[in-house]
Amino acid sequence: MKKSSKNDKPKKVKSPYIKVKKSKIHGTGIYAKTDIPAGTRVIEYVGERVTKKESDRRAQTPLENNAENEEMGAVYLFEINKRYDLDGYVPYNTARFINHSCDPNCESDIIKGRVYIIAIRDIKKGEEIFYNYNYSWEDYEDHPCYCGTKRCVGFILAEEYWPKLKRKLKKKREAKQKKSKKGEKNNKK
Ligand SMILES: [Zn+2]
Repeated sequence: MKKSSKNDKPKKVKSPYIKVKKSKIHGTGIYAKTDIPAGTRVIEYVGERVTKKESDRRAQTPLENNAENEEMGAVYLFEINKRYDLDGYVPYNTARFINHSCDPNCESDIIKGRVYIIAIRDIKKGEEIFYNYNYSWEDYEDHPCYCGTKRCVGFILAEEYWPKLKRKLKKKREAKQKKSKKGEKNNKK
């Protein structure tokens, strides 16, 4: 009798374009094995398809076997449509190793309900692969960014919120300056 393929464990997703390596920025990373032209689907971001309700539950649950830091399940969840999310925290999802950058060379895109990491510019062999994780405004302070690029805004955050973040940080800075000026005056008394 033929074994049902349904019961087989999903195989690790491979891509001819990338290799997994220790990252200079954060933990494990993904690197270009060859030159990659802009527009290439570098790798598919796979995972378990879950309902919104299950997704909300997982988002609030700390990840298992995650010794590096105490991250919540939210960090690997992708919204694919109004009914379902994709939970990429599975061993066969190679793309989960891709790091975030504020100045990335790839982006995530949903094509017919599947998530792909796509090159947004030509990538040279040996470069680390990045995309913007596009985290929302809630809890952004829990996710500081260390990408070290010139464009870094200091947090892992979707670009649409950058103006809001910059206004907020500016206000904070100004409040601090006022405070320290006041301090000076008081000292002169
Ligand atoms: Zn950054």
